[in-house]
Amino acid sequence: MAPFTFNTTAGLAFGAGTAARIADHAGLLGERVLLVTDKGLVAAGLVEPVVQNLKSAGIAVEIFDDVAADPARSIVMAAAERASEMKATGVIGLGGGSSLDVAKIAALLSGSGENLDDAWGVGNAKGPRLPLVLIPTTAGTGSEVTPISIVTVEEDEKRGVVSPVILPDVAILDPELTLGLPAHVTAATGVDAMVHAIEAYTSKSANNNPLSRALAIEALTLLSANIERAVEQGDDIDARSGMLLGSMLAGQAFANSPVAAVHALAYPIGGRFHVPHGLSNALVLPHVLRFNAPAAGGAYAELAPHVFPSLGLGPATATQDITAQFIEEIADLNKRLGLQTKLREVGITENDLPRMASDAMKQTRLLVNNPREVSEQDAFDIYRAAY
Ligand SMILES: [Zn+2]
Repeated sequence: MAPFTFNTTAGLAFGAGTAARIADHAGLLGERVLLVTDKGLVAAGLVEPVVQNLKSAGIAVEIFDDVAADPARSIVMAAAERASEMKATGVIGLGGGSSLDVAKIAALLSGSGENLDDAWGVGNAKGPRLPLVLIPTTAGTGSEVTPISIVTVEEDEKRGVVSPVILPDVAILDPELTLGLPAHVTAATGVDAMVHAIEAYTSKSANNNPLSRALAIEALTLLSANIERAVEQGDDIDARSGMLLGSMLAGQAFANSPVAAVHALAYPIGGRFHVPHGLSNALVLPHVLRFNAPAAGGAYAELAPHVFPSLGLGPATATQDITAQFIEEIADLNKRLGLQTKLREVGITENDLPRMASDAMKQTRLLVNNPREVSEQDAFDIYRAAY
């Protein structure tokens, strides 16, 4: 068996009501905590129970609620400065992937005094960071269990800090926090989580490992069984629980067997046209799967019965037929979830496609993991098919 490494968040707490018991982790967080979130969650009342519980345990809390989608470098730096100014002893990130990503870097820079420009890339952040607890309010990014933080820098370019140092100490998974997510956010973030599992399972990374593949299958089983119910019936706590757990498992999978061309081609859509990350992935997903099928068709056929148990595939069904059905079902799922399915529907014109293809080529850290090599012409052809 090939050697591999597997890193994940040390502690997990799953269950309804766990966020309002954050003070269970008072010993870890210390006396002064910076809570990183966004104004929408403050207004929705999701932050207050956490703050009250911390205060009841004698912990001083400052709230940084300036996080916006696709967080800019200036926001990340402001959060880190705030943590340093208040001499924070711990950082909490509460929100979608953006808030969690900002909290990771605030804890890193404030704890280590490192410079953000020295931390970009894989393994360059050294730490130590401040104690860190992450509480996701969407079921998609899996950021609570990934060593990755994505920041938008000049000219809408996305850059990543990737290092086990920014894995949090504890992830708190409270499905009650996701009950109020609008249907379109539930759909897009849920498909993103499915992409994490699919790309982890088929990753060409040398660290693609049996743990990640087992987690990816369990993640896809949970996500596909619950995504439509969570979209149609947002207050269904069982469906929300399945989505939150599935997205975390997919996060553990791809944190150690990294994602590939779907994400590489999604970033130029999100960066330049401000399309949400999950929808960007959904738009190119079926087309990248079709492109990858000659190399990854066998793996897609292995996943098919877990993702679509009702497909009715007999033991005699040829692998390429199973793969083809799997890809068609994925495309159909996007439609059933009410997601846009064409690049032209999100403000992209045909003239934008060549530059998007050249931008996608910059995502080398992702493209190296793709089961089939992607040229700039291939990227253009995939965008053309998705247009
Ligand atoms: Zn993603």
